[in-house]
Amino acid sequence: MENTAFISLGSNIENRYDYLVQAIRLLIKYPAIKLVGFSSIYETDPVGYENQDLFLNMVIQVRTELTARELLDICLQIELDLGRKREIKWGPRTIDLDILLYNHENIETESLLVPHPRMLERAFVIIPLLEIDQDVTIPGVVKPVDQYLNQLPDKEGVRIWKQKNGEDVFVPIEN
Ligand code: ATP
Ligand code: CA
Ligand code: CA
Repeated sequence: MENTAFISLGSNIENRYDYLVQAIRLLIKYPAIKLVGFSSIYETDPVGYENQDLFLNMVIQVRTELTARELLDICLQIELDLGRKREIKWGPRTIDLDILLYNHENIETESLLVPHPRMLERAFVIIPLLEIDQDVTIPGVVKPVDQYLNQLPDKEGVRIWKQKNGEDVFVPIEN
């Protein structure tokens, strides 16, 4: 499993927690994908399109034999399997799976941009990402990632909902 990817998950249609867990289970059903890290789950105020319910967001780290394109296709298929519909831009969704990082690569195709172009603007992505890897680096970005966080207006809208290894134990999803 020579490649490492970080994937962001988000849901704001009930049952949000089940959608997150289902998505991870469906991902790691693939022998070519191994879960190696995951963040706590955060409840977050919607950004972009604000007239909708609160989100649950988290980030996972996988190792994989798949190309980024193959990984994206699997993510999009899982979104379909879990009933994702695209009606409003940044609107309500059962599950959203975004590839944040794939190794240290820059990928620019019509259907896939990695690093995810909006990740640094989003506290709901950066906070769980740093929780998994506080030294994470983003290709093309010189400043340490945590320095971006201080400037993000939405960081107050990101609250722990289920702490990893906390009292309210979030059961790790085994491969
Ligand atoms: P945003 O991309 O701003 O988070 P979104 O997640 O709501 O918005 P979607 O409708 O889920 O956007 O995705 C639209 C398309 O984005 C997908 O069909 C996919 O081809 C493309 N895409 C480009 N780069 C990525 C990436 N890194 N991860 C996931 N999808 C991507
Ligand atoms: Ca997204
Ligand atoms: Ca998406």
